[in-house]
Amino acid sequence: MTTCKDCAFFFSIPEDADDFEKSKGDCVTQKDDEKGRYWLSKPVFENDQCCGAFHKR
Ligand code: SF4
Repeated sequence: MTTCKDCAFFFSIPEDADDFEKSKGDCVTQKDDEKGRYWLSKPVFENDQCCGAFHKR
């Protein structure tokens, strides 16, 4: 099964961060709309099943 840890948009939480948790990361995806470019971040875990936005590293 392909999981979030194999995705280019998965970023591990550093161990010294306040919200560190084993296998936890942020899913950061780039969006574009008429006002410009922005990024969305949401918490995910390494072994979460990949979503439709999966992009291989
Ligand atoms: S939620 Fe989707 S886009 Fe985000 S890290 Fe997981 S597979 Fe990638």
